[in-house]
Amino acid sequence: MSNVVLKDVHKQYQDTHVLSGIDMNIEDGEFVTLLGPSGCGKSTILRILSGLTDATGGNVMIDGKDMKKVPPKNRQVGMVFQSYALFPNMTVYENVAFGLKMRKEPAKEVAEQVEKMINLVGLQEKKEAYPHELSGGQQQRVALARSLVVRPKVLLLDEPLSALDAQIRKHLQVELRTIQRELKMTMILVTHDQEEAMTVSDRIFVMNQGGIAQEGTPSEIYTQP
Ligand code: ADP
Ligand code: ADP
Repeated sequence: MSNVVLKDVHKQYQDTHVLSGIDMNIEDGEFVTLLGPSGCGKSTILRILSGLTDATGGNVMIDGKDMKKVPPKNRQVGMVFQSYALFPNMTVYENVAFGLKMRKEPAKEVAEQVEKMINLVGLQEKKEAYPHELSGGQQQRVALARSLVVRPKVLLLDEPLSALDAQIRKHLQVELRTIQRELKMTMILVTHDQEEAMTVSDRIFVMNQGGIAQEGTPSEIYTQP
């Protein structure tokens, strides 16, 4: 059970207001997208949720817990970025296993979970490959598997597909949606691509200069005049 609530969240740098009163109520297992032009504050929301930066006002709650009282490392919030940041000297298997090994999970459990996630992202044939032997799309699948395997309560995705070419991107959008349904994990995706938002989301928040301009399901958003 992981719902995410933002109440009147503000972010200010000196005299620049980056977020001016964000309210969101994201349900457990929901896939929401933050859609908007560059610079409107999408990534700032993700950084506040993950604890990379603090809000200057308002409240952020995950499962009813105020994030002011939960240090970033205890939040169980995962993050996937545009650049894959894989360990170059580790195989696909080792990259995916890394987080669980750090937690000192029993070897049998690690092996089971790693196999499961590698299969889920469709890389069973590439388990022993190194990142440089993979295509961009395959590398991003590894990054996704590595984030999923530790079972975060919430997975944040910051333009994870925007470096990939159009065809692979379309394909991965559909896969991402399928994986999210299968794991029933709460996910928040940042994108400036309308079609991507349409394809993956239960709900879209359209942002505009630090605020939410519109909110609704893809069909609600795109049938409005
Ligand atoms: P988006 O993800 O929608 O492209 P960001 O959340 O990255 O937008 O940035 C929103 C705004 O905040 C931008 O105008 C950016 O220049 C500004 N900003 C981000 N980080 C800082 C910072 N450390 N100091 C000052 N301004 C910042
Ligand atoms: P440690 O880092 O503790 O030595 P291991 O490398 O032995 O851990 O791996 C832990 C578990 O993962 C073992 O059950 C091992 O069989 C399995 N494992 C490790 N590497 C691979 C791999 N490339 N393919 C499949 N299973 C692997």
